[in-house]
Amino acid sequence: MASIETIAVIGAGTMGHGIAQVAALNGFRVLLCDVSREALVRGVQSIEKNLAKGMSIGKLTEADRDRTLQHIHGTTRLEECAEADLIIEAVLEKLDLKREILGQLESASERSFVFASNTSSLSISEIARSAKRPEAVVGMHFFNPVHIMRLVEIVVGEKTSAEVVQAVTAVGRRMRKEPIVVRDFPGFASSRLGVALGLEAMRMVEQGVASPRDIDTAMELGYNHPMGPLKLTDLVGLDVRLSIAEYLHRELGSETFRPPELLRQMVSEGKLGKKTGYGFYDWSKENEDLRRAQSS
Ligand code: NAD
Repeated sequence: MASIETIAVIGAGTMGHGIAQVAALNGFRVLLCDVSREALVRGVQSIEKNLAKGMSIGKLTEADRDRTLQHIHGTTRLEECAEADLIIEAVLEKLDLKREILGQLESASERSFVFASNTSSLSISEIARSAKRPEAVVGMHFFNPVHIMRLVEIVVGEKTSAEVVQAVTAVGRRMRKEPIVVRDFPGFASSRLGVALGLEAMRMVEQGVASPRDIDTAMELGYNHPMGPLKLTDLVGLDVRLSIAEYLHRELGSETFRPPELLRQMVSEGKLGKKTGYGFYDWSKENEDLRRAQSS
C-alpha cells in the first residue's frame, strides 16, 4: 500500500477541525471539506484559535502555527477529497449519510484510498456494507478536543484488511496519538468501559452509598483516575450519556447498561451537566466566571 501523505477530513465541525489541525501540525497535507461554507470558515477559525492558545502557553512556536495553516486547504467539493490517500469522515452521526459519502467518493475516483470513520457508535462493518472496497474501510475514533486527547481507537470491521489497520495505526502515531486496536463491537473499548463506570457511580448515588464528590474522589485518589466518573458525565452531558447507555443496553442486552432512574430524571429536569449549569455538580458559578472573563 502506498504511504499516506495526504489526508482529507470531511466535516469541519467539532471533531473534523481538530483532526485536520493535528494532521497538518504533524506534517500531513490536509484537505478539509464541509458542505457548508460557514462551517468550513468556523472550522478554520477554531484551528487558528487553538494554535494561538498553544503558542500563548508555550506549547507551539510561530513556525508550528504557520506550517499547520499552510498545510490545510479548505473545500466544499467532496470529489476533491477522493484524491487523498486517507479520507477521515467526521460528519453527523448518521449511517446513511456516511454510506452515501463513501459511495460518492468511490464513484469520483478509481484511486484506492483508505476510508476511516470517526463514528463514536456506528458499526464500521455496516458503513462498509455496500462499499466497493470494504477492506479499505476502518474506524479512527478520536476524542474531543482532538488536539488535547491522546487516544485514537482503530476500529476493525469484518472485512477491514490487516494492511489498512497497520497503515492507520501508523498515521495515528504520526499524529502523536496513542492508537489502540478494537474489534467492531458496540461501544468499542472506550465508551463501553467508561459508560459502565459512570452508570454504576449513578446507582451508588441512588443507593446513598456516598455523595457524588466522594464517589469521584474514590476513583481519583484511590484508582488514580484524572477525573471521577460523575464529573466526567457532567462534562460530556447527561443527555449524551443517556443516549449512549440506551444504545448499549439495546445492542449488548446487558443490564450493566440499563440507564438508572436518576439519570432519566435529571435529564427530564434539564440537569444536563456543565452545559446547563447543573448536573451532579453545580457549575453555575464557574460558567458565569468564564462568561465574564470572555466578555472582558
Ligand atoms: P458536528 O455537528 O460538530 O460537525 C459535523 C459537520 O459535518 C458539520 O460542520 C456539517 O456541516 C458537516 N457535514 C454534514 N454533512 C456533510 C456532507 N455531506 N459533506 C461534508 N460535510 C458535511 O459533529 P461532531 O461533533 O464533529 O461529530 C462528527 C462525528 O464524530 C460524528 O460521527 C460523531 O459521532 C463523532 N464523534 C464526536 C465526538 C464529540 O465529542 N463531538 C467525539 C468522538 C466522535
